[in-house]
Amino acid sequence: MKVGVLALQGDFREHLYALSECGVEASAVKTFDEISQIDALILPGGESTTIAKLARTFGLTDLIVERIRGGMPTYGSCAGMILLADRIEDAAAGQETFGGLDMTVRRNAFGRQVDSFESDLLVAGITAPPIRAIFIRAPWVESVGPGVEVLASVEFNGECHPVAVRQGNLLATSFHPEITGDNRVHRFFVENICKVHVA
Ligand code: GLN
Repeated sequence: MKVGVLALQGDFREHLYALSECGVEASAVKTFDEISQIDALILPGGESTTIAKLARTFGLTDLIVERIRGGMPTYGSCAGMILLADRIEDAAAGQETFGGLDMTVRRNAFGRQVDSFESDLLVAGITAPPIRAIFIRAPWVESVGPGVEVLASVEFNGECHPVAVRQGNLLATSFHPEITGDNRVHRFFVENICKVHVA
């Protein structure tokens, strides 16, 4: 199984490292041919507007949309979560997503860069101890369609908001497991969605 990490912008190197720590050989992908040849994809954290614009500029958007709709296992963290959402609140003017996940996400939901925070989260399907979740100008999930499973939520100003979701071949987190050194979310993706057994 060839896993690619979209390398247009953002923290793709951290995802490559997390995958290699799981024993999965992955490569940075940024061309039409490279993306055509992978079996699974990670959309990194970064800036969703920039990644979407670069994908459009390089003629990759339709291919990525098609591959995701065709069932390719795909995981998005933070900006990657936004890129997997069918709908965005507080989007930049004309902002596109690849979509696939029947949900609405709110960009920059927890506030500005200075409001970034960390929290210990239990994620359904991942055995305790909780995951140290790092939120950096993160989105939250505002609403989900019937096929979307909420794997984790956080409380913010007295309200609960989903921050990890799965729908079939698609996984998304508002937070960045790739920068914690804890690779259990990547392992979950590889084992449960890509169906590859790792040691
Ligand atoms: N706020 C960014 C966006 O809208 C996401 C931030 C992140 O990936 N850490 O794309």
